[in-house]
Amino acid sequence: MYRDVVTFLYHEVSNNPNSTGFLRKSNIPYKHKEEDFVKNIEVIKDTQIIPSTIKDINIKSEKHKIMLTFDDGGKSAMYIADVLEKNNWQAHFFITTSMIGKNTFLNKNNIRELFERGHVIGSHSHSHPTPFNKLTIREMVEEWSTSINILEQILNTKISCGSIPGGDMDKRTILSAQQSNIKYLFTSEPTNKLWKKNDLTLIGRVCPKVGTKISKVRRLANNRGFAKEMLIRRIKNFIRFLLGPLYPLYVKIRHGS
Ligand SMILES: [Zn+2]
Repeated sequence: MYRDVVTFLYHEVSNNPNSTGFLRKSNIPYKHKEEDFVKNIEVIKDTQIIPSTIKDINIKSEKHKIMLTFDDGGKSAMYIADVLEKNNWQAHFFITTSMIGKNTFLNKNNIRELFERGHVIGSHSHSHPTPFNKLTIREMVEEWSTSINILEQILNTKISCGSIPGGDMDKRTILSAQQSNIKYLFTSEPTNKLWKKNDLTLIGRVCPKVGTKISKVRRLANNRGFAKEMLIRRIKNFIRFLLGPLYPLYVKIRHGS
């Protein structure tokens, strides 16, 4: 149905990691310096593929597609948008709505501005609980719908996409998104294949961190190396299985976001 879609997940971009997004130590690996981020963008530019969004995901293309996503809603999104727009690119920004207007996060006007500048705004839950899949379905639906309502009121438009805080998902997470009328759910499964569950399209993502080799970003941008990424993910899931009840602690230490 679709060509392969390579979707990148980033968080904050700033030379001062304490100025944007969540400020836990565990968030630091997800906060790129400006120069590093520009290098990532150059590599994507080298593919000569103009990044898509869910608005044009169904349009046929010769090569694979690339999409760009930014989680959490930290205020460095305004800088990120400036960088992307130098190439006329658009991206998806997923907002943690309980943080709107807080010191290091986007405020309502910022979100409106990003939307008016053509970017896609989606939900990243209301309060960013992790691991998300430890909530009950009712709690998950509450997280999505509160967040979607807030964004719809700010933007006066329908919100149809979300990304899972912390990235941990299961069948119940998928069900909660369906019950919240989400049409595109961005996950942290490192796959380039979209998959569908009834009306819901699930989109995997790869997440270059601070220190990820630029050669790896290049490989992924060129739609290579996904089998290896999936293998690493499976090994991580096995660790999760081995750690059992200790896993939430492990996630807290490792991820945070
Ligand atoms: Zn997050």
